[in-house]
Amino acid sequence: MKRIAVLGATGSIGRSTLAVARRHPDRFQIVALSALGSVAELESVASEFGVSEVAVADPAALGPLAGRGWRSGPEGVEELARLPEVDIVVNAVVGAAGLVPTIAALEAGKRCALANKESLVAAGGIVLAAAERGGGELVPVDSEHSAIHQCLSGAAPVGAHRLILTASGGPFRQATDEELERVTAASALRHPTWEMGRKITIDSATLANKALEVVEAHHLFGMPYDRIDVVVHPTSIVHSFVEFVDGSVISQMGAPSMEVPILYALTWPRRASDAQLRGFDPVAISPLAFEPVDDRRFPLFRVGVNAGRAGGAAPAVFNAANEVAVEAFLEGRVSFAGMARVVEETLEVHGELPVDTLDDVLGADREARGRARAEIEAIGA
Ligand code: MG
Repeated sequence: MKRIAVLGATGSIGRSTLAVARRHPDRFQIVALSALGSVAELESVASEFGVSEVAVADPAALGPLAGRGWRSGPEGVEELARLPEVDIVVNAVVGAAGLVPTIAALEAGKRCALANKESLVAAGGIVLAAAERGGGELVPVDSEHSAIHQCLSGAAPVGAHRLILTASGGPFRQATDEELERVTAASALRHPTWEMGRKITIDSATLANKALEVVEAHHLFGMPYDRIDVVVHPTSIVHSFVEFVDGSVISQMGAPSMEVPILYALTWPRRASDAQLRGFDPVAISPLAFEPVDDRRFPLFRVGVNAGRAGGAAPAVFNAANEVAVEAFLEGRVSFAGMARVVEETLEVHGELPVDTLDDVLGADREARGRARAEIEAIGA
């Protein structure tokens, strides 16, 4: 029986994790839960799974539940990641707020089933050092990285030559420049293949998500940037490819359901039988199509990958500015194209700070957010 903490339990990945746990009560026991602020839903799942270790990241959201003995604030979430009774921490927190819990879980020797790609983007080297120090292990939940992890399972370490991540291309894959100018939050939130939270859905529409994933893959698999490619694959059936040194290519496929990579991250190196997730039909998914990424129409892809290549504070600054820009876009305070301008301007000012410690990363994140907010006001004015 694996004992699991689900951080971000009321978001899309958190709910999918709980759905997987409901189907496998003999394998998984939910022992800790956190959410940003959806306390009613949190209370309901805590009572369903009989969980007493609960944390609410936003203390202001506790309201009438304040007398429950729940933990609160970012420290409360971090404490859950270190609980001795926890074997696996599913980190499904959105954004840079997931970084500290990732480090805490790895330092405490847990498996971290990582859906929070921002952890590795903002502080890749620091996160890997925490795993080394504490004996924790990272298993990706992101579908592309889960695919690569599966393709590499059992492979000789020097055998992989190149990673090819797939991208759905988002809802505006075929939009003209003029159409991109008029994109609204409502239209950007309609993703063609994946059902996800709001932040990642916007990131998928701008392809910022794919830039974050390239940086994530670089750290997770120790692959140099010039051997990580991205290809657009609109139906999201092939989740990624690995090309090996001898020219063999292995891919992992399946219907676009996050429950598959979640179950894999919870059971690896084994697999659990799950009839609900089976039923692959090659005829129904034919033909499979692939096309290049257009980084002229989707500049955040290029900007994000370049930030990863630059290293130092740049990827943390990219991530922070992007989070602020997405929030402003959802609130109608910046246009779709304006998001890339905000991120680029912020990187120009703060992208070259050195980062050696977690505090450096958190400082760069904070400064970038301030700068990005000022930039949005300047554009809006
Ligand atoms: Mg992904």
